Amino acid sequence: MSWISNLRTRQTVIANARKGWICALQRNRDFLLTPSAAKTLSKDSSYTRFNLDPPLELGVLEKRNLSTDLSFHGAQNCDVAVLGAGPIGLATAIWLKRRAPKLRVVLVERRSTEDGSAARPYTREWLTFVKAPVVWSLLTAEDRKSIEAIGAKGFIGVTIKNLEFALFRATQALGIPLCNHEGDLDGAEVRQWIDATGGRLPWQGMAELGAEMPLQGAPADSGETFDNFGCRIRPLLPDDKLALKFYGDAWRPTLNQTELQVPYLKITKIDPKLKPAFFERFFERAFTKGLYFWNGFMQPEMNEALLICCLTQAELDALDDCHRRVCSLSEACASEEIMSALGPRLGPIIAWLAEHQQGPGPFLEPTFTWAPYVRPRLPRQHKNASIVTVGDSVYTGNPQAGNGLAPHLFELKQAFTIRAKSQQ
Ligand SMILES: Cc1cc2nc3c(=O)[nH]c(=O)nc-3n(C[C@H](O)[C@H](O)[C@H](O)COP(=O)(O)OP(=O)(O)OC[C@H]3O[C@@H](n4cnc5c(N)ncnc54)[C@H](O)[C@@H]3O)c2cc1C
Repeated sequence: MSWISNLRTRQTVIANARKGWICALQRNRDFLLTPSAAKTLSKDSSYTRFNLDPPLELGVLEKRNLSTDLSFHGAQNCDVAVLGAGPIGLATAIWLKRRAPKLRVVLVERRSTEDGSAARPYTREWLTFVKAPVVWSLLTAEDRKSIEAIGAKGFIGVTIKNLEFALFRATQALGIPLCNHEGDLDGAEVRQWIDATGGRLPWQGMAELGAEMPLQGAPADSGETFDNFGCRIRPLLPDDKLALKFYGDAWRPTLNQTELQVPYLKITKIDPKLKPAFFERFFERAFTKGLYFWNGFMQPEMNEALLICCLTQAELDALDDCHRRVCSLSEACASEEIMSALGPRLGPIIAWLAEHQQGPGPFLEPTFTWAPYVRPRLPRQHKNASIVTVGDSVYTGNPQAGNGLAPHLFELKQAFTIRAKSQQ
């Protein structure tokens, strides 16, 4: 199976990660170095469904999602079992089945309903930033048509939830069964496992082994430059030591011996038309204080913007204590506790957005922490069969936009396309 060796031998993972970390350090240095261990809120429970009142295609997708059957199919012998029915597990299963229709592929998911008969519906409401050609060939014609109508400029413009549902429907169309990770594959024969669990499949304890790999060659001082978003970036200092430290099953980046992590706050459903006024008002803060205003790539009437704020440790600690569910900005502004936790840097931004927005939103999401890692793709075993890792299980994430999905999908496409070419 040459796609496995394609995935295992790809050397770009560490190079890409390093590029991303250097870029983030240059831009958000103050936010990346934090003394305490990562605090991560549960992803699933933190996100609630928005009342979108969706027009046209979004409504069509939502209706299709509601009638999608997520039942588990029970025990299956198979050639390949993909652990994790997130976007990358789904895309991997589709690629496999398309390339080798006779291969018996099954998907295995952990999130199940209380009675264990079906997977829980997808809920993640964050927008993806993925070039359309990377996913077009994976979707059913019907879903592609709906999603195409929402995206623009060559990008898809839906939430991860909608992409996951659409990819899931494509696996159903290909006859790929979905199994429950509790027991369904216990006695089954599996020739090859794929870990697409987003890094949740434990390999061994996170005992620190102490090995360190210096990342040589930080870019030389080339003066002030501007990146794609127009942000001013500054080079790493000559004495800075960026290294990867090995923690038993993952390499984590460190700067001068301190582990990097980025705590975030995200504000969603902002009116994109506010962008110019936002920049006029908060120019200095947006360019120098770890703020990233992202405009969606959708048709105008469905478009929305996001503001991603890197948090200092003090801001994270304060907000984490009082803000644990999605709320509107006006609710946040009415809470003395939240406003005080937002502090002098973020408080005025939130108040300004709440004041200037017309219509529903924006929403303040709970804080979350991103702690990047790379897992080496060494040959490994799982339940006596070989296992290979994909997606967030290998590498999280891309600090330029908190978006790891696009490079993961691109890598999959490359791995499976190389195989196709080598067969010609
Ligand atoms: C808070 C947050 C905000 C983000 N914002 C964005 C954004 O705006 N845009 C963007 O593009 N990306 C964003 N990302 C990144 C993006 O969500 C990830 O890159 C992407 O979801 C990774 O996909 P994956 O399939 O590798 O892993 P996941 O999406 O984590 O999927 C893993 C799946 O495996 C299942 N699973 C776990 N353990 C097991 C097990 N033992 N057995 C079986 N199944 C298991 C899980 O239930 C899950 O369904 C964000 C990430 C976070 C944490």
